Amino acid sequence: MAVREILIYPQSKNELRAKSQPVEKIDKSLKHLIADLKDTLQAHENGIGLASPQINVHKQVVIVCLGYEQEGEWVTGPPEALINPRVIEAGDERRDFDGCLSFPGLYGETIRPHLLRVTGLDEQGQPFDRYYEGFNAVVVHHEIDHLEGVLFIDRVQSAKDLYTLEKNTRGQTIRVPFNAKIPG
Ligand SMILES: [Zn+2]
Repeated sequence: MAVREILIYPQSKNELRAKSQPVEKIDKSLKHLIADLKDTLQAHENGIGLASPQINVHKQVVIVCLGYEQEGEWVTGPPEALINPRVIEAGDERRDFDGCLSFPGLYGETIRPHLLRVTGLDEQGQPFDRYYEGFNAVVVHHEIDHLEGVLFIDRVQSAKDLYTLEKNTRGQTIRVPFNAKIPG
């Protein structure tokens, strides 16, 4: 379908903070939205999740790429849509890596559940009730947060947990603390 523009914080703060509404019908317009979300996510090499409000559509639809660890590397699978997702159990909170396509270049350590049980509808409109563990739980939790207008900067314990990645004079990638004050 189409690659859509991703809203960036803080320029699009109001849109990113707005709550999304439940999907009422599995129809053609929903299929188009899912296709656009997948295309937009796949246009970003490092993206593993995208929520519909990030393309300024306030519907309860998120795309996640679940993955697994193989020889120390995180291998991601194909994108899949979760419609009207609801967290019904959450546990095993831990600090883990986080980042967001609406905050280009900004990363952080957030506290999120590493065990999550979620209900909702799959792309075909079939109900599901699934458990997600480890980093998959982090990804799903991050995306569901977007539907409530909650952003990853809200899940850091302090601004000191945020950083950017830059190259030093030797060409090595290093973490640089993000000292600027985050608006809102
Ligand atoms: Zn995000």
